[in-house]
Amino acid sequence: MRDDNCIFCKIAAGEIPSATLYEDDDFRVILDIEPASKGHALIIPKEHYANLYELDDELAAKAMVLAKKMITKLTDILECDGYNVLQNNGPAAGQTVFHFHMHLVPRYKNDNVKIGWKLGKLTDNVKEEILNKICEK
Ligand code: 5GP
Ligand code: ZN
Repeated sequence: MRDDNCIFCKIAAGEIPSATLYEDDDFRVILDIEPASKGHALIIPKEHYANLYELDDELAAKAMVLAKKMITKLTDILECDGYNVLQNNGPAAGQTVFHFHMHLVPRYKNDNVKIGWKLGKLTDNVKEEILNKICEK
């Protein structure tokens, strides 16, 4: 599966050069061109899936195992103090490239990287509403 208009399909296939940290039959791992911190990398499947909703189950599992391997190795190399592993689905969630990818963002003490949200409060109404609806599914 491939989308000829998709930049990550081209990067994953090696048609557009990228700083590749790792490659196998299923994935390419590259350095992000606009990194949040030193070493920010992206895990990109070679096949085109727009987002996590569409991603093949087996590849989803492999992506998480690969994330674990990559951050373990990179923590050693970069001497970072922690990692954010995250991915965005849909424009409302901040997705800008519509080919599934996982961000591996190394974190350094006092690095000033902002990944977060204002803490809310779980109300009884919302809790009941969601619990009831998920039980009906
Ligand atoms: P999203 O916002 O979709 O979760 O993340 C897209 C990411 O892809 C951004 O962090 C952006 O910097 C990165 N990106 C977009 N185009 C390119 C590119 O051509 N090369 C590389 N290496 N990263 C890219
Ligand atoms: Zn693609």
